[in-house]
Amino acid sequence: MPGRSTVTPVISFSSVDSALSSLKACHVSISTGIEVTTDVALALTEHEGNAEEVSKMEKLMLDYVSMDQELEQFIQVVEDVTNQIKQERPEQLPDVKSLVNEKFNELKNLNKDEDLLKTDKYLHFKSQLNEMKKQVGAESPNEIDEDIAVTQSQRNFICPITQREMERPVKNKVCGHNYETEAIIKIIQTKYKQKKKARCPVVGCDNGDVKQSDLSIDTSLRRAIENHRRHQIR
Ligand SMILES: [Zn+2]
Repeated sequence: MPGRSTVTPVISFSSVDSALSSLKACHVSISTGIEVTTDVALALTEHEGNAEEVSKMEKLMLDYVSMDQELEQFIQVVEDVTNQIKQERPEQLPDVKSLVNEKFNELKNLNKDEDLLKTDKYLHFKSQLNEMKKQVGAESPNEIDEDIAVTQSQRNFICPITQREMERPVKNKVCGHNYETEAIIKIIQTKYKQKKKARCPVVGCDNGDVKQSDLSIDTSLRRAIENHRRHQIR
C-alpha cells in the first residue's frame, strides 16, 4: 500500500529542528530591539524629553516583551508536540502543523496584557528607567561634590573579573552585581564544563550560583560609563 508506513515509522524532524533553530535566532533580534528601545527611553529621560515620548517607548517595550513571550511559547509547543510524536511513534503522522497551532492558540489565549508588566524583561526596563529618573532628579549643580561622585561611580565601572572599565555590563538580578558580559559568560561556561557552579566574583558576595538567565544587559550603567569616557576625553 503506498503511503503506509512500516512498523517503525521513520519520522524525520530535521526540517522541524532547523526551522526551530532559526526561530530561536529571532530571540536575538528581539533582544536587540529591547536594547535599542531601552537606550532610546533612557536618552529621552536623561534629556528630560516629554513624557509622551517615553510612554511610547514603554508601549514599544511591551510589544517586544509580548513577542518574546509568544516566540518562547511557540517554540515550547513545537518541542512538546514533536517530542510526543517521537515517544508515541504513531503509525500515521498526525497533522503536526494544526496540532501546534491548536496548542499554541490555547496557550496564547491565556496570555494577559497585565502579566507582561510583571515579566522580568519589562521590570528590568522599568527599573533602569526609574534609576535614570533618579539620576536626572539628583543631579545637583554643586560642583564641589562632583569629584567625589566621579571617584565613587568610577569604582562601579570596573568589572570585578577583568578589573577594567566595562564595555557591555550585565547585572545579576540575584545579587545586584555587575560584570563584563564576555568575562562572566566565560566563567559560567568553564564551570559548567567542570559540572560546577559559578560563584559571583565580587569579593564578599555570597551568591554561589551565577546563572546566565540571571544576567541582563545593564543599559543605564553602559550609558553612564560612556558619558564618563566622553568627559575624560574633553
Ligand atoms: Zn554578587
